[in-house]
Order: sequence, then C-alpha cells, then structure tokens
Amino acid sequence: MPEPLPADDKFARILRCGWKGLCPRCEQGRMFKSWLKLQDSCPRCGLNYRFAAPDDGPAFFSQCIVAFPLIFLVLWLQVRFDPPLWVHLVTSVPLMLAGCLLPLQPIKGWLVASQYLNRAQEAGTEGLWAKLDGREPGSGSSFDD
Ligand SMILES: [Zn+2]
Repeated sequence: MPEPLPADDKFARILRCGWKGLCPRCEQGRMFKSWLKLQDSCPRCGLNYRFAAPDDGPAFFSQCIVAFPLIFLVLWLQVRFDPPLWVHLVTSVPLMLAGCLLPLQPIKGWLVASQYLNRAQEAGTEGLWAKLDGREPGSGSSFDD
C-alpha cells in the first residue's frame, strides 16, 4: 500500500517516476519491459502492475499536447507560404510523427505512477477487483501487493 505523501512530494514523484520509467513504489525498478509494455511486476520490490490501466490515455494526451498545436503550425505554414508538398514531407510529417510518438512512454509512466500513488480505480469496481483477486470486498485492494 502506498504511504500517504504530501501533495508536492506525490506530484514530484509522479513526474520523476513517469519521466524515468521507474516503479512508483520503490523508484528503483524499471516500469517498462519494452517501449510501451509494462512489466508484470517490479523486478526490485515486486509491485504487481495489474492495477495499471492507462488505456488510451497516453494517446489522448499526446494528441492534445502535441498533435493539435502542430496541426495549427502546419496549417499556418501552408497558408502563409503555400510551399510545395516536399516541404511538408521533410518538416510536417517527421515533426508530427516524433511529436506524437516520443511522449507516449513518459505520459504512460505518469499515468501509471499517478494511478498508483492516488490509488485510483474506476468507481464501483472494488467488488470486481476483490473477486478477481480472490478476496473479500473491503479487505485491502489490488494496490496492496
Ligand atoms: Zn518497485
């Protein structure tokens, strides 16, 4: 079970763990076994990552933070200079690909660390988690091991 942290410490830990891809409990073990694939459990402290469900959150935040502003840049480039197509192929396309793909891992790390440190789970799923964990509802949670 994560110990309660002051809000500033919690936020700093979420940023640190997400950016470096480290376990939100021990800050030692790697969170990812490949680029976007989470470990089954932390190799250092054994934190089980089955609680982690960032779903399409990383893609959503990547679009909001990077893709939408980049679209306006590309549109401005087109309207202002009316460049030939090859200009977009060497500027807009690589910028869009790198800008959307590179932030996915840190964003996923931030979401997983945030989910762990805030003990976030979908409302009303405690009974389902207890059934999946083979325990009585209210007797701990899937975050405890
Ligand atoms: Zn760990």
